[in-house]
Amino acid sequence: MASKVKIALKDFELMQTLGTGSFGRVRLTKEKATGRYYAMKILKKNDIIKLKQVDHVISENTILADIDHPFLVGLQGFDQDKQYLYFLLEYICGGELFTYLRTEGTLDSNNARFYCGQVILMFEYLHSKNIIYRDLKPENLLIDNMGYLRLTDFGFAKYCDGRTYTLCGTPEYLAPEVLMNKGHGKPVDWWCLGILTYEMLAGIDPFNDEDPMAIYQKILKGKIKFPKDFNRKAKSLVKHLLVADTSKRYGCLKGGVGDIKGHKWFRDDWDWISLAEKEIPATYIPEVDDEGDTSNFSEYPDSPEPSPPVSEEEDPFKDW
Ligand code: AMP
Repeated sequence: MASKVKIALKDFELMQTLGTGSFGRVRLTKEKATGRYYAMKILKKNDIIKLKQVDHVISENTILADIDHPFLVGLQGFDQDKQYLYFLLEYICGGELFTYLRTEGTLDSNNARFYCGQVILMFEYLHSKNIIYRDLKPENLLIDNMGYLRLTDFGFAKYCDGRTYTLCGTPEYLAPEVLMNKGHGKPVDWWCLGILTYEMLAGIDPFNDEDPMAIYQKILKGKIKFPKDFNRKAKSLVKHLLVADTSKRYGCLKGGVGDIKGHKWFRDDWDWISLAEKEIPATYIPEVDDEGDTSNFSEYPDSPEPSPPVSEEEDPFKDW
């Protein structure tokens, strides 16, 4: 059993839905004894088994229990019953970077650099533990009460020091080596950082199209058009990240993450230590009335049908 602390579901009140994922939803949760707020990620065992995602969920739980970093969402506890797995997470009240980005349209260079810098520190930490994340997108970056980012959803994250082959990620963010099924590793995260940085500054991802097949073709073609007002230094970094050849992509060269951290976009008026210590004031601080305010999240309808229970013999999680 990998998860940290066993909790008892009955000690928590499950409240409104904050977001939905492939096999369940995340709900605001109040600890009855203390009144403290959390987010409860509730996964349907039946769906996980049907969609052959048991290994991914086991890996998510193991990784969540292993990580401890101020820019990552921390696992506080775990419980299960015949129908569901319950992951108790810190509640990050400011909503998704996705929502903020769509409201703003584009971010200015300083703001984009502030977020990009944090993602670099997240990946530096995860890669130092040989964890690749593989699903970077603005939906998975939450904004905390100080305006700093927290990475959530480790469903596709994996321990990997070399290459792995499972196709996963979001179409617009897929790296060429994932599409080509040539085996991929840590470099995919640096590719995704390039896409995210472009998207923050341009308001749209570089290989966008309605049709996923057309997205894939554009990714493989690799032609990137930058809007005229795209920050020049950021453009240089994006061009070093969105390189199909992983042996030439920033983050994967001899200098490692140092090439990215030392890039000219981060040279003037920038301090990595202050960022890691959360000492740089954020441009955007989410508005919240109280600790359990959910106004920064979209509204979701109540849970539909309950998930069917899984018998003990068929339950791959019974020993957790
Ligand atoms: P996930 O299935 O982990 O991708 O979560 C789905 C959605 O739930 C996310 O995109 C967020 O909107 C929301 N969410 C996940 N974890 C948290 C959290 N710790 N605090 C607040 N909202 C969360």
